[in-house]
Amino acid sequence: MTDAVATMTDAPDSRPPPAADRPVDLSPRVADEVKTTTCYMCACRCGIRVHLQDGQVRYIDGNRRHPVNRGVLCGKGAAGIMHLRSPARLRKPLRRVGERGSGDFVAIEWDAALDLATAWLARARATNPHRLAFFTGRD
Ligand code: SF4
Repeated sequence: MTDAVATMTDAPDSRPPPAADRPVDLSPRVADEVKTTTCYMCACRCGIRVHLQDGQVRYIDGNRRHPVNRGVLCGKGAAGIMHLRSPARLRKPLRRVGERGSGDFVAIEWDAALDLATAWLARARATNPHRLAFFTGRD
C-alpha cells in the first residue's frame, strides 16, 4: 500500500494548473470587423456597433458616438443578434390552425402567406383603404 502511494505521488502531474493559476485574457479578440448601424428592435433606432468575425455577427454593443443612445444598449437591443443566431427563430410564416390563444400553428411558404394576406386585405382595399394602418412601436 505504501509503495502504491509513493508511485502515485512521484508521477508527473499532467493535469492543467488550477484555474486560479492560469492567465486570463481580459480582452480576447472576438471580431475582425465592426459595422455601425441602428437597432431595429424597436422604434428608437439607437446607434449600434455590430462586431463580426469572418463575416458572422458575434455581438452587438452601443455606439457611443450616436446622438440617440450615446453608447447605451438595452437588453432588447443586445438580443438583436438572436434574430440571426437563435435556433428558435422563425424561419417561415406561421398560420394559426387552432383557436386563438391555443398556440397551434403550422409553418407555411411565403407565397401562401402573401396570398392569404392579400385576400384578407382585399376587402379593406375595395371598401375603405383608410381603415388600414400599420404601427410599429417600442413595446
Ligand atoms: S431595442 Fe433598445 S437598443 Fe434597440 S432601438 Fe430600442 S431602446 Fe434602442
